[in-house]
Amino acid sequence: MSEKLAIVTGGSRGIGASVAAELAKAGYDVIITYAGNDEAANKTVEEIKSLGVDAEAYKFDVSDNEQTSKSVDEIIEKYGRVDVLVNNAGITRDGLFMRMGKDNWDAVINTNLSGVYNVTQPIVKIMMKQRSGVIINMASIVGVYGNAGQANYAAAKAGIIGFTKSLAKELASRNIRVNAIAPGFISTDMTKGLDSEKIAEHIPLKRLGQPEDIAKTVKFLADDGTYITGQVIQVDGGLTV
Ligand code: NAP
Repeated sequence: MSEKLAIVTGGSRGIGASVAAELAKAGYDVIITYAGNDEAANKTVEEIKSLGVDAEAYKFDVSDNEQTSKSVDEIIEKYGRVDVLVNNAGITRDGLFMRMGKDNWDAVINTNLSGVYNVTQPIVKIMMKQRSGVIINMASIVGVYGNAGQANYAAAKAGIIGFTKSLAKELASRNIRVNAIAPGFISTDMTKGLDSEKIAEHIPLKRLGQPEDIAKTVKFLADDGTYITGQVIQVDGGLTV
């Protein structure tokens, strides 16, 4: 068992799986959490273990406060500390606002924003006791600039940004840093329906991002960005410049 523990929500696939691997390479034991895809979660756990650290997957719905508290408490009980929390679990339910049903509004707000509350609350308590910790929240450039067809997602991601800045101010005196990453278009299951060649034409770096591009930024904020808190780092190939 390593001396450092990282928890990555939504760590079974996509950006989260890559973040988990990058933190494992940096020597963290890694807990990934996921919603239902057992096969992806097991594969990611095996990949992390092959990097020489401990790994475990916990299945719970981050939008469910009771389930989440129970699982997070179990993790804390077992490992005794949390050094890095990456709030990464997220979904999209896109559609023009005029026709957006309350179900799609609620699903995105409950998972992407309230999910961050549910996971972070119990973890902040142990980080305060430790007097150290790093929290990294996965926002989106959509939370900064908005996007037609994603009012629910933009609201949740903008909420995460406000949350990040506020929590950074609350927790700085306890040596806990809180930052957000705002990715642009990253190649994962979430973006697989999009025309990536067309999108790449509008990106100065002329490509979609890879999950590793985000994972390296997480690693930087976790280990090297020791004087950075309350910031939103845009990782978007220059799209918003
Ligand atoms: P993804 O490939 O669709 O993976 C989503 C992850 O979240 C999976 O591990 C999934 O678990 C988990 N998850 C979904 N709903 C959950 C719930 N209710 N409870 C617990 N876990 C849940 O997504 P991604 O593209 O890697 O995105 C990761 C994060 O980056 C998200 O917050 C997303 O909004 C943000 N982001 C992505 C992009 C992009 O272009 N891809 C851009 C900006 C921001 P299962 O595997 O069990 O389903």
